[in-house]
Amino acid sequence: MDELSIEQRLQQISERIDSACSKVGRDPAGVRLLAVTKTFPPEAVDEACRAGLDQMGESRIQEARQKLPLCSSRITWHFIGHLQRNKVREAVEYFSMIHAIDSLRLLEAVDKACAEVGKRLPVLLEVNVSGEASKYGIPPGEVPQILDVAGRFLNVDIAGLMTIPPFSAEQEDARKYFKKLRELRDQWAGSHGFALKELSMGMSHDFEVAIEEGATWIRLGSMIFGNRKYKPAGNDMQEEC
Ligand SMILES: *Cc1c(COP(=O)(O)O)cnc(C)c1O
Repeated sequence: MDELSIEQRLQQISERIDSACSKVGRDPAGVRLLAVTKTFPPEAVDEACRAGLDQMGESRIQEARQKLPLCSSRITWHFIGHLQRNKVREAVEYFSMIHAIDSLRLLEAVDKACAEVGKRLPVLLEVNVSGEASKYGIPPGEVPQILDVAGRFLNVDIAGLMTIPPFSAEQEDARKYFKKLRELRDQWAGSHGFALKELSMGMSHDFEVAIEEGATWIRLGSMIFGNRKYKPAGNDMQEEC
């Protein structure tokens, strides 16, 4: 895989996206590809940009602070990591969408920072569908309470949900979590009047199943850029370092 250019990998990825879509009768235009650039240098980001990608994701504020100024201004940046409240202001300044709001307090802090910066941001609620204790994300049972009060946050747009299933090399194992997220979305969209249109789910090893279950954003890192030099220990995927 490493001898392929990013452009060649993207070609293969787009064929796989198309075939996952046709399996379930979806329009590929409804699946957005987020290129996860964490640990990769600005040169790799540039190459991805030249290959036509313009939606990119980072999961650490420290890394984004250094990298983003060196990258093309054509890029729309998404924050996909666990966000600490003391870094919210910076996150709101750098990013155009936040994928992993994992508490009401964080939602409140992001709303407040948006007001200060003069921005309105789409955000996704991260749901801990599997209930793994080691995972970030809101337990499904607590999401309705957040949606109940979310209407008062005028500077964020609750655009949908995000999840990270337990790691498994078998992508079929992830299906039930993706399916569950979609079902929860349908339920909450009906009961709370938010469309919750976006479902951010699926990474390099399970994106096809995620698409079959309704993903509107897939987040691919290693599939586009190759293996990262460090090995994230499964559940510290979103850890700040
Ligand atoms: C790193 C990361 C990804 C991309 O992972 P790959 O397995 O390299 O595709 C997706 N989502 C989140 C939240 C991440 O931290």
